Amino acid sequence: MKAAAAGAYDLTREDLAALLADQPRYRVEQVWRGLYAKGLRPAEMTDLPHDLRSRLDVALPPGLNLAAESKSEGGKTVKWLWGMPDGAQVETVLMRYPDRATVCVSTQAGCAMRCTFCATGQAGFTRHLTTGEIVEQVAVARRAAEPDRLSNVVFMGMGEPMANYDRMWEAIVRIHRDIGLSARHVTVSTVGVVPGIRRLTHEALPVNLAVSLHAANDPLRNSLVPLNKRYPLPVLMEACRQYQDVKGRRLSFEWALISGVNDRLSDAEELSELARPLGAHVNLIPLNPTPGFRVRGTSPAGVRAFRDHLRRLRVNATVRQNRGTDIDAACGQLAAGAGVGAVTAGPRPQPPKRPTAPD
Ligand code: SAH
Repeated sequence: MKAAAAGAYDLTREDLAALLADQPRYRVEQVWRGLYAKGLRPAEMTDLPHDLRSRLDVALPPGLNLAAESKSEGGKTVKWLWGMPDGAQVETVLMRYPDRATVCVSTQAGCAMRCTFCATGQAGFTRHLTTGEIVEQVAVARRAAEPDRLSNVVFMGMGEPMANYDRMWEAIVRIHRDIGLSARHVTVSTVGVVPGIRRLTHEALPVNLAVSLHAANDPLRNSLVPLNKRYPLPVLMEACRQYQDVKGRRLSFEWALISGVNDRLSDAEELSELARPLGAHVNLIPLNPTPGFRVRGTSPAGVRAFRDHLRRLRVNATVRQNRGTDIDAACGQLAAGAGVGAVTAGPRPQPPKRPTAPD
């Protein structure tokens, strides 16, 4: 059977029906529910006959094999490094809060966007993840979170979700329909792939959109986020506005605060001009250290001052609680082990210079 070599979550319902052709029809639903609604391996599906369990355990292997687990904050943050059959590696982060949990999933092994301050970008692109490899991260995290409820899924791990749009979207459909986690609790984060934002605008399911902005003028953004040269701020903001008009969903801007680069009060003012008309929420992330970018994050006092200034300018702003910095699990630190080492060995990319003001 064609899909049998891929992981269990890579099979469509039709593939599964073909695999179970010699079984009563209701088995398809039973196994599908076992995988998605319960997150079980076939060997654990006690409502199946014993020999079928063993057969399916071989025919439906996991797509992700645990290579390493790291824990931080007394186990409240857990990072998994997965190995895939072709040798590619990817990471997933589970964050527990007092009565619920959020999972941060990856959509690509590596990333082709090359944002200067991000470890994943520094390590380069390996390949897209399959739908099954994306969904499996959520299924595993949901089980691991028990007895707490996995309440949110954020597409903020390795990779640019919009660059792997079709597989990402099919994963969201299965997370919503089969795992049973509402699309309203799913957030897709993009560095600003405008065609992806436009497609998302016309999808039936309502997800939240986060845009990794980091700069509110084109020269500075070009130096931090190379993709900005393809989709400059006016084009990106127009796509965001349309998303909001059509969807009425929450839009947020992510802003990694980089010392001396984008953390002046005048940067907050520039940002407010973009955020306020859209009613966008600003998520401030003090820059996390990465091997290839030798610029510091803004100090805690500087972060508070930036936040307070945004609030004075009538922009909703919060500081993202940093999780898992010590295990390289925080925003921008996911590099699946080896790749970043290769970057540190070579010349370090220079931090961007702040473009001089036009006047
Ligand atoms: N490619 C998507 C999804 C990744 S989300 C995107 O860019 O939105 C990861 C988030 O962490 C993004 O907002 C990214 O800009 C941010 N980030 C990257 N490197 C960081 C760093 N060193 N410190 C803090 N945040 C960082």
